[in-house]
Amino acid sequence: MSAMNEQDFGADPTKVRDTDHYTEEYVDGFVDKWDDLIDWDSRAQSEGDFFIQELKKRGAKRVLDVATGTGFHSVRLREAGFEVVSADGSAEMLAKAFENGRKRGHILRTVQVDWRWLNQDIHGHYDAIICLGNSFTHLFNERDRRKALAEFYSALRHDGVLILDQRNYDGILDVGYGSSHTYYYCGDSVSVYPEHVDDGLARFRYDFQDDGSTYYLNMFPLRKEYTRRLMHEVGFQQIETYGDFEETYRDEDPDFFIHVAEKA
Ligand code: SAM
Repeated sequence: MSAMNEQDFGADPTKVRDTDHYTEEYVDGFVDKWDDLIDWDSRAQSEGDFFIQELKKRGAKRVLDVATGTGFHSVRLREAGFEVVSADGSAEMLAKAFENGRKRGHILRTVQVDWRWLNQDIHGHYDAIICLGNSFTHLFNERDRRKALAEFYSALRHDGVLILDQRNYDGILDVGYGSSHTYYYCGDSVSVYPEHVDDGLARFRYDFQDDGSTYYLNMFPLRKEYTRRLMHEVGFQQIETYGDFEETYRDEDPDFFIHVAEKA
């Protein structure tokens, strides 16, 4: 097997707290499995038109998907009439996204780029940037987070919007990961839970029932107010945070927070 078919977290996986490690975590096998993990139909059903409405409300037309993954949102937004550029730092993910797009009759415009150097390869200003599916949590240090947010900020037009989601790590850190908390876009064939959690690491384990395979992702447990503060500090003026797509919620309840950050 080639190195890209196996995940390698070394002798002590809980020591892997490195922003650059994400490209090694999305190995071919995991990328192939990702679409089992993310059941597109049930995901579309559970998120409804939330993102489409948020974008339409603001008159957005040109959208940059910075965490394309296997292409779910890029394809959905194209089908809803948006002009979409699909970026990701992982070549494996983009290849899968392109294939998924083609199966649905779209030729995705893909760009392989790391967020920290986004504007080296992304030109022009977008009406909106989406960074979805708990992606921002791959960044392990504050300098990288600030750099990525600043790059997103400058790729947006003067009154553009950034929509970025994250797991409710406050709930996981303070209350624990309830078994009732289903990963909102999971198919039935996979179980997901945090195998290790501390202030600097949430290591998630993904067990696939069909073939017994197991993969992991090491993430940084972002607290909601911390993410909001960073967004304000890089210049976003107005930040609305939804809990599982709702405006009002008890902080411990949602699985996901969605930040809608406006530049003006
Ligand atoms: N948005 C997709 C979804 O919701 O299905 C994919 C989510 S996946 C959890 C996270 C994605 O972020 C991966 O495709 C990964 O390659 C990408 N990513 C993580 N860190 C990145 C970085 N520093 N620069 C660019 N892409 C990054």
